Amino acid sequence: MARAHTGYHSLFIPGPTNIPDRILNAMRIQQEDQRNLEIPDFTLPLYEDMKKVLRTKEGIVFIYPSSGTGAWEAALSNTLSPGDKVLTCRFGIFSHLWIDMMERLGLDVRVIECEWGEGAPPDKIGEILAADSGHEIKGVMVVHNETTTGVTSDIAAVRKAIDDANHPALYYIDGISSIASVDFRMDEWGVDVAICGSQKGLMLPCGLGIVCAGPKALEAHKTAGLKRVYFSFEDMLKTNKDGFFPYTPSMPLLRGLREALNILFEEGLENVFKRHYRLAEGVRQAAKKGWGLKLCAKESKWESDTVTAIMVPEGTNGAEVIATAFKKYNLALGAGLAEVAGKLFRIGHLGDLNELMLCSAIAGVEMAMRDVGVDVEPGSGVGAACEYWRANPA
Ligand SMILES: *Cc1c(COP(=O)(O)O)cnc(C)c1O
Repeated sequence: MARAHTGYHSLFIPGPTNIPDRILNAMRIQQEDQRNLEIPDFTLPLYEDMKKVLRTKEGIVFIYPSSGTGAWEAALSNTLSPGDKVLTCRFGIFSHLWIDMMERLGLDVRVIECEWGEGAPPDKIGEILAADSGHEIKGVMVVHNETTTGVTSDIAAVRKAIDDANHPALYYIDGISSIASVDFRMDEWGVDVAICGSQKGLMLPCGLGIVCAGPKALEAHKTAGLKRVYFSFEDMLKTNKDGFFPYTPSMPLLRGLREALNILFEEGLENVFKRHYRLAEGVRQAAKKGWGLKLCAKESKWESDTVTAIMVPEGTNGAEVIATAFKKYNLALGAGLAEVAGKLFRIGHLGDLNELMLCSAIAGVEMAMRDVGVDVEPGSGVGAACEYWRANPA
């Protein structure tokens, strides 16, 4: 689409995210033979390095040419059987869509309905598991970072609830908008299946669906009866062990992933997490202190460091803020979806970002809000964010 704008487009949705030039350059390659003899020298270390991001020693990484939704399907279809009972919670669109997939795959899904703006309730999950003395529940699924509400759940706390109930269910985490941006510890948190995508914290285009299966999940795989073909772990395991793929991989995306991991390791994962926290905190200061607005996240323990969902005042429309930001200021913001349509807008702040880039987003939001009648003080959001960043340098 031709835009009558000069300068950069400001992309502040929670994925896809900005792609660093180093990654763009790494992907700008001629096609190569995916079976050439040097491919394993490239792919085998890639799996090992992806495991460092997931913080796992024992897991096995599968990289599919798909979006994150495909990785969801791979995770479920390779480890469960038709009619298996699973337990999960709904608190936004992504948790809802994953539940929809579970149902359509023929699983027997028990859903804990939560308020949008809340995270997974460890107590409730623990109670249900404790009551399941026959161990009929085979899986517990949690979306780590619910991208539609800007809510991060406590994955370690849910693990503890599963352990306290002495329950053997597998633990599945959708980490698509958290992994590589915020702390994630697959082994320490006892995550059996972790799911990730390329277009968020990994700063790549969409097109890689990444699944990591731990030992318990790989054991369950041996008897899992759901049908799978394209996403089958078997086919992947047979060829991946030698560094090859059962079908044509997207080599440019894999070359891009290599560069993304290099960039993350150069900064250091701990520093990446700290940066995401600082940037997120600046945005929260802008929203709360500067503009006097509420977040969708109902408690500070749930506030996400990768996306902030900001409620607009009654009588104003978040969708108008987003449309105005796009048309007048060349700024893309995340929309309010389904239950929260019109009630909020979202600022994505993950991936290749710094303070001054976020200042442009906060300034654009501020102008767009004033344009559509949200009564905020000019400069108040930018001022609050800048003062926070000045007082809390990297
Ligand atoms: C983006 C996202 C997905 C869906 O990924 P696609 O790549 O669009 O298929 C799933 N879960 C979460 C939490 C997400 O943020």
